[in-house]
Amino acid sequence: MMKVKKTEWRVVVYPVACKGMGDCDAEENCRAVLAAVQRHVDGVGSARIEYDIDCSCSYCGALWVADDEHYNGGCCDNDEAAEQQRRECEKGN
Ligand SMILES: [Zn+2]
Repeated sequence: MMKVKKTEWRVVVYPVACKGMGDCDAEENCRAVLAAVQRHVDGVGSARIEYDIDCSCSYCGALWVADDEHYNGGCCDNDEAAEQQRRECEKGN
């Protein structure tokens, strides 16, 4: 039988309206909230900014599903063309 113990208790704070902000605005917003937490909140051991990463094709916006960081399996014509060009360059070397 599995024994479950809850560990590393923490409070996660989501700033208002980070979704839909550009990267710079979202980062700046988070830094402001972090500074406010560190200034005003009692009982804080440490606080830090974290983020998730979404990878997508720079050409068509499709979810990146490949292990390869250059070729997304041909999700669109541009991805396929870039891969063809890369292969030809490798042959030339
Ligand atoms: Zn694509």
